[in-house]
Amino acid sequence: MVIVMGPEATQGDVDAVVQIVGTAGGEAFVSRGISRTIIGLVGDIERFGTLNLRGMSGVADVIKVSTAHKLVSRDNHPERSTVRVGGVPIGPDTVTLIAGPCAVETPQQTLEAAQMAKSAGASLLRGGAYKPRTSPYAFQGLGEAGLRILADVRTETGLPIVTEVVDAHDVELVASYADMLQIGTRNAQNFALLQAVGSIGKPVMLKRGMNATIEEWLMAAEYIAQRGNLDIVLCERGIRTFETATRNTLDISAVPVAQRLSHLPVIVDPSHSGGRRDLVLPLTRAAVAIGADGVIIDVHPHPEQALCDGPQALVDGDLRELARVMRQLSPLLGRTLVGDALATA
Ligand code: PEP
Ligand code: MN
Repeated sequence: MVIVMGPEATQGDVDAVVQIVGTAGGEAFVSRGISRTIIGLVGDIERFGTLNLRGMSGVADVIKVSTAHKLVSRDNHPERSTVRVGGVPIGPDTVTLIAGPCAVETPQQTLEAAQMAKSAGASLLRGGAYKPRTSPYAFQGLGEAGLRILADVRTETGLPIVTEVVDAHDVELVASYADMLQIGTRNAQNFALLQAVGSIGKPVMLKRGMNATIEEWLMAAEYIAQRGNLDIVLCERGIRTFETATRNTLDISAVPVAQRLSHLPVIVDPSHSGGRRDLVLPLTRAAVAIGADGVIIDVHPHPEQALCDGPQALVDGDLRELARVMRQLSPLLGRTLVGDALATA
């Protein structure tokens, strides 16, 4: 809470505020600017609320500055949350591997990618049926036909599905197939879409906007939470910087920063951050080492034929190696790779 004193406030007025805050068990920090004095209060906001500070002589304004993202904030919820997607946990005790094709292209390609994911040890299948492409001439996804393919592949493999929704009008339809809805970087501040997925009762993976600050990312999550859905997983997928060697710059510090500010799980997308196959493993190592709650990885049985993001897609052996490294690193962080945890449970 911050008290803004008016320009006419006297030293006596300031002293009176400091004193009354002290009687309520708080501390007051006085900052004098050129044109005004502000007093920062630390203590029990509820008790300050009973003091009628606004009515005191010299007080121009009283501003509450407890975090704006109340529902997703860790202040009000110190324990880190676990979100369950079709029974698969994403949270602080485990590391979850999500893998699958960038886009659903054919039943055969999706099934092969899902089998690669499953046999390597992934617990969730990713795959886009609605693709938010930069170019309107690029492959836009198969739409509902793609969702049906995903549902068939789920039946075949048992892997729950994570898939993107790009339009608020499609939320109900996508949710009727998906186990978790993905909001992509380009829609990370599409507030109507955020509110729609907040009302649908399915877990949501919220990617960070490529130009969004961590604060803006958490506020986007707050839009979902405010509609009653707290099953949100945050996904750091790289941000826009001056660097052109990688597709995006993986902001690895965003993981512990977001985990400190919010109780929500935080995963990393090494595929869309680097945009290059050779970077996926090193970025995954970094993600697990820094404490990410999972990673989401693009795989494709024939990356050279992929309709979307082939250059970053892993093939079978790469994914096995990645899972092996995750399995080795996770115990160092006091965690287990999810499939292994379930297998030994
Ligand atoms: C994706 O995961 O398929 C995707 C489009 O990612 P992003 O929104 O991070 O670009
Ligand atoms: Mn992609």
